[in-house]
Amino acid sequence: MTRTMEELIPDYIRGLPVYVPGRPIEEVERELKIHAVKLASNENPLGPSPRAVEAAKLALENAHRYPDGGTYLLREALARRTGVSTEEIFVGLGSSEIIDLASRVLLRAGLQGITSHGSYAPFSVAIRASGAELVLVPQRHFAFDLDAMAKAITPKTGVIYLANPNNPTGTAFGAEELDEFLEGVPDGVLVVLDEAYIHYAPSLNRRKSEEIYRRRKNLLILRTFSKVYGLAGMRIGFAIGRAELLSAMNKLKTPFNTSGVAQAGALAALDDREHVTRCIATNAIERKRLSEGLSGLGLRPVPSETNFIFMDVGPEAKEMCDELLQLGVIVRPLGWMGFPEAIRISIGTAEENDKCLAAMAEILTKRAGKGELAAR
Ligand SMILES: *Cc1c(COP(=O)(O)O)cnc(C)c1O
Repeated sequence: MTRTMEELIPDYIRGLPVYVPGRPIEEVERELKIHAVKLASNENPLGPSPRAVEAAKLALENAHRYPDGGTYLLREALARRTGVSTEEIFVGLGSSEIIDLASRVLLRAGLQGITSHGSYAPFSVAIRASGAELVLVPQRHFAFDLDAMAKAITPKTGVIYLANPNNPTGTAFGAEELDEFLEGVPDGVLVVLDEAYIHYAPSLNRRKSEEIYRRRKNLLILRTFSKVYGLAGMRIGFAIGRAELLSAMNKLKTPFNTSGVAQAGALAALDDREHVTRCIATNAIERKRLSEGLSGLGLRPVPSETNFIFMDVGPEAKEMCDELLQLGVIVRPLGWMGFPEAIRISIGTAEENDKCLAAMAEILTKRAGKGELAAR
């Protein structure tokens, strides 16, 4: 037999795009020999809750033991807070793992998964990696077009992914729109509702999605400890969903998907409401300031319900990101997410945002100068 190992890799995996993460600060500082601020990965600029750090340190003492593979304590705490049973909570290696598991459990070749153009790239990867066909529905005004998504459902549809608020555009749809959309989705189709940024959204309320979940059999809500809880590096997130679905996901996950350190950190972070409140309030103040600052420079940021700002800046978006990088501000070009003319800036601390605004002003002034020269 002369088959090579590479030939075993199916075309649908061979063709997958590589996930492009935000560039690490250390890498940029080493390369450019400058001090940099990272506004590229929507991380919490205020850091983790000190109580989470303390709990994680204590848990390290037991690092020689395997963690609780069933994450009992954390699931119990989450169930209590969200008003569901512990069987309806799944804890994952970040919500990333759960995004993948949903497709792995329900999709296969011959079926279809639907998501929106201009949404979170891992949704598309999860669908394609299952061997199913990816159906991408266009957006309207940088937001999910739920009517068009409902119309895209066919007898082959197995899973639909939504992010609310959406990454990278920062827009959100209301609970009524969600409810109306779900009304048109057959019971045999799973709707994955990724609420990674819901704490930051002035127009949304987590309790409302939880209430909708109670009425709808086919909803899987994803939440994460990576954003408002400030534990992105710990890799832990969770889902609220039907016990039958979660038990199938349990069979596929690696036996100890989350570490004992992450579980302890997450449990303590949940209890530190003061930290969460401070992070939400600071983000709201800085979001307003950064948006107004960018508008003041003649840019047009899309109103944001999240901890980042999305804006169309024209065909030179990539150059603009490179120029910002040279000035020590790491932001995200979005060509690989389907927006070649847009950039995404995570909202940082006041100091970081000032540095971003100053760098942006410098770049735009230089451009205006060049434009004048060209016009002469
Ligand atoms: C940041 C983010 C997440 C979080 O992923 P984790 O694996 O939990 O770190 C999930 N969904 C979206 C849309 C995000 O932007």
